[in-house]
Amino acid sequence: MALETTTVALADGSLLRDQAFIGGRWCDADDGRTFAVRNPASDELLATVPRMGVGETRRAIDAAADAFADWRDRPAAERAAVMRRMRDLMLEHRDDLALLLTLEQGKPLAESHTEIAYAAAFLEWFGEEAKRIYGDTIPSPHRDKRILVTKHPVGVCGGITPWNFPSAMVTRKAAPALAVGCTMVLKPAEQTPLSALAIAALAERAGLPPGVLSVVTGDAEDAPAIGTEMTSNPIVRKIGFTGSNEVGKLLMHQCADQVKNVSLELGGNAPFIVFDDADLDEAVAGAVLCKFRNSGQTCITANRILAQDGIHQEFVDRFTAQAAKLVVGVGVEPATKVGPLIDQQAFEKVSRHVADACERGAQLLLGGGPHERGGTFFSPTVLDRVSLEADMSREETFGPVAGIHRFGDEREAIEIANDTPYGLAAYFYSRDVGRIFRVSEHLEYGILGINTGFISVEVAPFGGVKESGIGREGSKYGVDDWIETRYLSLGGIDN
Ligand code: NAP
Repeated sequence: MALETTTVALADGSLLRDQAFIGGRWCDADDGRTFAVRNPASDELLATVPRMGVGETRRAIDAAADAFADWRDRPAAERAAVMRRMRDLMLEHRDDLALLLTLEQGKPLAESHTEIAYAAAFLEWFGEEAKRIYGDTIPSPHRDKRILVTKHPVGVCGGITPWNFPSAMVTRKAAPALAVGCTMVLKPAEQTPLSALAIAALAERAGLPPGVLSVVTGDAEDAPAIGTEMTSNPIVRKIGFTGSNEVGKLLMHQCADQVKNVSLELGGNAPFIVFDDADLDEAVAGAVLCKFRNSGQTCITANRILAQDGIHQEFVDRFTAQAAKLVVGVGVEPATKVGPLIDQQAFEKVSRHVADACERGAQLLLGGGPHERGGTFFSPTVLDRVSLEADMSREETFGPVAGIHRFGDEREAIEIANDTPYGLAAYFYSRDVGRIFRVSEHLEYGILGINTGFISVEVAPFGGVKESGIGREGSKYGVDDWIETRYLSLGGIDN
């Protein structure tokens, strides 16, 4: 139950939308049902948005199909111009978008500002990149034939996004898809639809044609119906998903029936390795940023911190001292560094991981439980000597909890790091060039942060190996997931 309703004071109040956006129209659910979007810091009601299902999703897909031919046939520069206007509008309204993001997701306002800039950057990057999608001519082995290779948008796509980066995950999918000429039906997460709807409002203002990007909203109960329509409707040629492994695997199974193309950005279990030769100041700063950003609710957070024998104690002492300084609070308070967890379920999982690690012999050095602010606020926590069998060593914790493990040599660190079905991001700190090459070559991950704890940027390919996913988002490689290659064999050319 809502305790009270927050007045969301945006400079541009029309960015707070309580309807979904289908085929260029703002609309309610067919049966008029809605669900509540609440501030995780206070449980206050921010807005209600439509609970949609199969019918609305199907209409959005039909609208995307209707919009496809015209959007596809526009020159890339024309599509890029619309996307550039979307990007400019996002930056112009950055304060409002950041505030909305913090209110529905909980992260500190400064992090929301960073996310809005990151989200807007994909629109610019991919708008420009789409101008440079080249085909090929292949020397023909036959005198009377020519061989050409051309590139084409995949078609109508479905996008499904999580709550932890409610703006960036939207544009990281929609921007490459739209830039190359695809159209998209997007379903944001139950907890954070408002950021996606605000982006849709700006897309409309930027002149994006109706149907090119629709946003269908629904709560957790509606998600399976919306997802099943997206995966079973033959008009949809591809699904781009960011979220949990469980749902990603389910969608992949569903897509198998029609051999539908999938891109999956799933969970991680990032090792963060600090070798004896690391610059400890840098390593501590990088680990604090990487671990506690977004209250530890990132797929690339340092989930297993591994410290080598020689620096272990000093690293632990300095890291714990820095973590103790982090201010826990509501995201809109300027001093806040760690906001609330997204919901009670997340809070319970984090609590369970801490209890399990302690039962298995970990030493609790900081925090360890609920923060005095109540609700889903969890105290920044540091545990040393965490067992490699502990839940927090095997699964994503998704909270402000750092588990440290001590190791002996390079080989052991690599073995521990790779001992997981995940393969998204890994980090290590070393000043030895030989070690940097050796370790980089042996870590089985899609992204390596070497002497840095911050790796997200639109110009680089983001994505995982093993069970962390399929495909890459961002960079020149990010367009590949949304285009098809066509081979033209041209005969009858007599010399
Ligand atoms: P989630 O529970 O898998 O939800 C993700 C999205 O899938 C939400 O929109 C959700 O809708 C929807 N969904 C749930 N069940 C569905 C179904 N049966 N069919 C279709 N859609 C369905 O994940 P989350 O808890 O929001 O996000 C956290 C996870 O995302 C973590 O594992 C994190 O590591 C991962 N993540 C990965 C990356 C990356 O780039 N690799 C980036 C960010 C996050 P509802 O919200 O309505 O249930």
